[in-house]
Amino acid sequence: MSPRASPPPASRNPNDYVIATMGSHSALQILYGARQEGMRNLVICQRGKERPYRSYGVADDILLVDDWKRGWNAKLEQELIRRNAIIIPHGSFVAYLGHDRVQKMKTMYYGTKEILEWESNRTKERVWLEKSRLLLPKVFQKPADIDRRVIVKFHGAGGGFGYFVVKSPEQFEEVKRKKYPKETDFVIQEYIVGVPLYIHYFYSPITGELEIMSFDKRYESNADSIGRIRAEDQLAANIHTSYTIVGNMPVVVRESMLPEFFEMGERVVKVSQQLCGPKGKNGKRKGLFGPFCLEAIVTRKLQTYVFEISARIVAGTNPYIEGSPYTALRYCEPMSTGRRIARDIKQAIEEGRLAEVLG
Ligand code: ATP
Repeated sequence: MSPRASPPPASRNPNDYVIATMGSHSALQILYGARQEGMRNLVICQRGKERPYRSYGVADDILLVDDWKRGWNAKLEQELIRRNAIIIPHGSFVAYLGHDRVQKMKTMYYGTKEILEWESNRTKERVWLEKSRLLLPKVFQKPADIDRRVIVKFHGAGGGFGYFVVKSPEQFEEVKRKKYPKETDFVIQEYIVGVPLYIHYFYSPITGELEIMSFDKRYESNADSIGRIRAEDQLAANIHTSYTIVGNMPVVVRESMLPEFFEMGERVVKVSQQLCGPKGKNGKRKGLFGPFCLEAIVTRKLQTYVFEISARIVAGTNPYIEGSPYTALRYCEPMSTGRRIARDIKQAIEEGRLAEVLG
């Protein structure tokens, strides 16, 4: 396969490029956003999963593959390169293709690829978030150290299925023995009592500005339904909490919390510029840019504990296809995160700075 010639094409005409993504997660928003910015788009779908993209009419082109393992091959990449496609990664993109293939991809890619390593490796992620001076739940290195309520997360547990909450080494051993006798890959995190809050940011290297786009909370099964049964019945029915994500709900936060949230996001971006990506002329690394999300629990004392970072568009931005209350303040037109990405790319192309937003 012929690798993409680097640097990227010199054309400053956005019509010479195509915004491309994989049909899942937040693709509708990404495609619609590209269209709102007057850019062409295409979606790559697994055969049989293309219906939403046809039905909502947001895709200029739909490329079908039989499965992700064999379908995302040299031939597909060649076609994407031929069309000057710029890939927008989302949660399912990395999950389906895997890090290695994303790293090796020759198609233009919006974002810093190296960041994937920092967000998916728990040790690196923690270093990054600690350096950013965020409040983090304590992590227990071994079960014997458990001295408070903890949440046990298994690595392979897709969407939070199978996580459990215990408060002593004995309880841990009991649940582990009964439910996960063979599992060895897990993290033991202090369980923070509070409300989950997902903070959606956007940092543009083109404008040099950090924006808060919106917030969401998740609708998780069965965590969000257990309160509908009284405690006694829960015990009798032996129900275990799981956090399988089903959807996302919009949230507007107390206004007095916004300054802190801006500062948190800013520190995360600054630290990423010390940690990862190629160095630019100003000596700073490329770091994190585009959309990202801090996943947090806010306690009754209004302390914000961050338990994870997603360094790309999150599905929690999907309720805001027509913009959020926050983007309404800043833009005089509907501005979703998907559209904000397309605008960043369009501006970069027009200013001859496309390389700055590609990883
Ligand atoms: P991913 O983004 O990788 O899909 P996730 O965002 O679902 O993961 P998880 O870490 O899997 O996040 O957490 C799932 C659920 O567990 C969420 O509802 C979250 O609020 C809750 N949770 C996670 N960590 C903690 C914690 N330390 N204390 C309290 N609740 C937590």
